Amino acid sequence: MRLRTPREVPERPLPGSELLTAETVRLTIGGRALLDGASVRVAAGEVVALLGPNGAGKSTLLSVLAGDVRPDGGEVRLRGRPLAGYGAAELALHRALLPQSAALSFPFPADEVVRMGRAPWTGTAAAAEDEAVVAEAMAATESAAFAGRPFTALSGGERARVALARVLAQRAPLLLLDEPTAALDLRHQELVLRVARERAAAGDGVVVVLHDLSLAAAYADRVVLLNAGSTVADGPVTEVLRAPLLSEVYGHPVEVLAHPRTGVPLVLPER
Ligand code: ADP
Ligand code: MG
Repeated sequence: MRLRTPREVPERPLPGSELLTAETVRLTIGGRALLDGASVRVAAGEVVALLGPNGAGKSTLLSVLAGDVRPDGGEVRLRGRPLAGYGAAELALHRALLPQSAALSFPFPADEVVRMGRAPWTGTAAAAEDEAVVAEAMAATESAAFAGRPFTALSGGERARVALARVLAQRAPLLLLDEPTAALDLRHQELVLRVARERAAAGDGVVVVLHDLSLAAAYADRVVLLNAGSTVADGPVTEVLRAPLLSEVYGHPVEVLAHPRTGVPLVLPER
C-alpha cells in the first residue's frame, strides 16, 4: 500500500494582514517595457480595483502577481515570502487567477470546468467537499443551469460566469480577476462584484481589473491606476477617481459626479 503524505494546507490569512505586495515591478519583453514601476498590494478582506486604459499592463501585472510570469525587477511577496520561492502546487492553494476571457476555451461540460478548480485540493481533507464547493460556486455565479452544457457552446457572458465559478471553487484566499464583468449584463456585473465583496468579507483579498469606473467606485475599497506599465495612483476611491487625473490617463475628458443619494462617485465621459 502506498501512503500519501498529507499535503500541507496553508492557514487562512488573518483579516487585514498583508496577502500580496508588489513593489516597482519591471518586465521587458522584446525590448518593450510592459511593466515599469508597477506597484500594488492587497490585504486580506480587501477589494482592490486595478484600472487603466487598454495596453496599460493590467493583464501582464496580474500574471506577475499570480506567479505565472517572473518580473525582471522589483519585488513580489505573497504572505511575506518572495513569490519566486513558491512551487506551482503550493501557489494554487494561495491564489486563483481568472484570465481575461479571450484566453479561455475549455473543451468540457461547464460543471467539469468548475470541478477543475478543485484540482489543487486533491489529496487533502478538503477534497471531501469538492461537490458541495462546485455546486456553491455555480450557484453564486448563477451558472448552475449550464452544468451539463459544453463550455464552448455557452455565450460569452455565460462562459465568463462559469470561468469565475471555477476560480471560486479553488477556494484560494487571493483572487486575481481580469475583467470578470467585461461580457456581462447589468445584473451579472453587479452579481460578480457582490461575490467579490462577499469573498472579501469572508477574509479573502481580491484584485479585480475593471473598465467601468463607476462600478469600481461602488465596490472597491481601494483603486490602483496603471498607465504605461506604471502605477500612477493608489488610494481610496474618492482620492483616485478625480476628473483631471482620469481625463489625462484615459485620454478623454471625463466628469466625476457624486451620486445624489449615496454620494458614491459616478465617472462619465464628457460628451
Ligand atoms: P492591459 O491588460 O492593461 O490592456 P496588457 O497587460 O495585456 O494590457 O498588455 C500591456 C502591453 O504589453 C500591450 O501593449 C501589449 O500589446 C503588450 N504585450 C502583452 N503581452 C505581450 C507579450 N507576450 N509580448 C509582447 N508584448 C506584449
Ligand atoms: Mg488586459
